[in-house]
Amino acid sequence: MQPMRQPLALAVLVSLVVGSVGGAQQRPIDWNALSTETVNVLSEYIKVNTIDPPGNELQAARFLKRILDKEGIESRILDTAELKPAGRANFYARLKGNGSKKAIALVHHMDVVPASPEFWSSDPLSGQIKDGYIWGRGTIDMKGEGIVQLMTMIAIKRSGMPLTRDIVFIGNADEELNSTGAFVFVDKHADLLKDVEFLMTEGGGNQVENGKLLYYGVGVAEKRTFWQRLSVKGTPSHGSRPTKLNPVPRLVAALDKIAKYETPLHVTPGVDKYFRDISRGYPAEQRGWLADVKKGLENPKGRAWILNDVYWNAILRNTISLTGLQGSNKTNVIPAEATAALDIRLLPDTDPQEFLRTLQRIVGDTAVHFTGLLEPKPPLENPIDTDLFRAIERASRERDPNALVTTPMLTAATDRPTYRRLGIITYGFDPFKVEASDIQTGMHGNNERLSVANVGFGLKYTYDVLRYIQ
Ligand SMILES: [Zn+2]
Repeated sequence: MQPMRQPLALAVLVSLVVGSVGGAQQRPIDWNALSTETVNVLSEYIKVNTIDPPGNELQAARFLKRILDKEGIESRILDTAELKPAGRANFYARLKGNGSKKAIALVHHMDVVPASPEFWSSDPLSGQIKDGYIWGRGTIDMKGEGIVQLMTMIAIKRSGMPLTRDIVFIGNADEELNSTGAFVFVDKHADLLKDVEFLMTEGGGNQVENGKLLYYGVGVAEKRTFWQRLSVKGTPSHGSRPTKLNPVPRLVAALDKIAKYETPLHVTPGVDKYFRDISRGYPAEQRGWLADVKKGLENPKGRAWILNDVYWNAILRNTISLTGLQGSNKTNVIPAEATAALDIRLLPDTDPQEFLRTLQRIVGDTAVHFTGLLEPKPPLENPIDTDLFRAIERASRERDPNALVTTPMLTAATDRPTYRRLGIITYGFDPFKVEASDIQTGMHGNNERLSVANVGFGLKYTYDVLRYIQ
């Protein structure tokens, strides 16, 4: 283990600043000690096996409850009966403020995706602390953020910092698979959330490459997953006698039309801001295209250059990836059915049913059946002009005075839309500066790890955001 080192002068300065907020008597926070404690708590949390399926988040909820009980912070284990299979749970805690402003919720999911130990250098559930990193499944996605949220709330309680807003802490089950944890929580416990104005969880996306921070990313919007299964029924027969009742060519013809369909380009407000923000890092011609991306897309050269980036392309339009395809499992048999799977991701302001009708029109064949594979989540686009955004901006600029604080759209899905349904402003907030290569390798991959330095960084960063929004 490597304890965090921090110049003494800085520690004293931080303590003085903290002590002056609100004029109330506060105990200073020993950031070195808090960071070491947090690293150890995270290491233990990684050892709690919440690989989903089956999840077993009840163990994680008990782990969190034991910690909060010791601190005198009230918490509850919820939804053990509603969540299936047995052994699942949601978790809820609240640190009371004076109630003069509305509450802010810190949310993480307690489950993690499976890991293949044979590709790891150490056991994925070891929580090993080695070479300046905490290793294990969930360190990045997202037990690391969850424990930083927890320990920041605890530090605030211990320090006696006066709060105008309650701090709500939530752990959800099953984000990685079916999101049932957040669905059940919002359905059953809207009363616990009725005074919550803001919510922070995963889906920010600070961009760090080769040790250099490109921007702090605040997730205000995300794409909507709208997976479809396409199927055509036929009559099974022998492959030696071709027939028009073979469903495979018919499905292939439909897929060919879909593959050739270019979805229209559309710029949402957060994406518009994102391109404007990042434009300043580019040479003049490209800067011109990005600074006003709607105009830039009208320029053929600009359009080709922008859409060549797979991420930029994905945040500027509805996307369709053909990912699954099945006909016969025998070469000499014409199958009774041919099926395909489409991973469709919609912009937040696209109406799913209207998009489906467009696809059906393009295919133009009523023998091709579309079946939705998921209930689409509510659309997620949040306002940017808020106290929370300004608090994040301020805390970020204090750390990196020239840094951009921008709003990249998430192309993947989180639990945020589920909470947004209640009118809560839900931001993706990333408390760490994790190298892009570590995210690429570790998140849902192998040798997932979070640096000890990032834990220390994340604690103070989260603490400052919470302080500035009081
Ligand atoms: Zn996650």
